[in-house]
Amino acid sequence: MNVICEFCKFSNFLGERPSGDKFTLCCRKGKVKLQKPVDAEGNILKYPYFLKDLMSNIENPYYTNFREHIVSYNSAVSFASMGAKLVDFNGRGPYMFKVHGQIFHRTSLLQPFDGEAPQYAPLYTIDSTQATEVRISQAANEACLFHILYQID
Ligand SMILES: [Zn+2]
Repeated sequence: MNVICEFCKFSNFLGERPSGDKFTLCCRKGKVKLQKPVDAEGNILKYPYFLKDLMSNIENPYYTNFREHIVSYNSAVSFASMGAKLVDFNGRGPYMFKVHGQIFHRTSLLQPFDGEAPQYAPLYTIDSTQATEVRISQAANEACLFHILYQID
């Protein structure tokens, strides 16, 4: 990711550059302009300060929890999960991840059936506190902390 878009300064892979030499995946050749997050002094932030602090400040009381369960945090706030027919390699050698056929996204219904909790994208259509309560009640997220999930949401 060392090829910089001339419009938005996003780091891209060389192989992502279309034949016209202008990137489309990041900003549609400069057509999409988003306000960049800034700190109190107006310096551009690459990501929210609270996430940087959770990731890099060993003095942060939640540093260990966040780093140990970062996959759970990431999955808890995802819009969908990946579905595919995975090829299983039994035996020795380096880890390999191989998909056979089409990859698709799994999400849940906007209005789940009675008794079912909403998951993925539909959680972004309800109140943030309620969505965080739903996420934290799921067994896969039992190690996540409410206030961190709420901030991420
Ligand atoms: Zn760009």
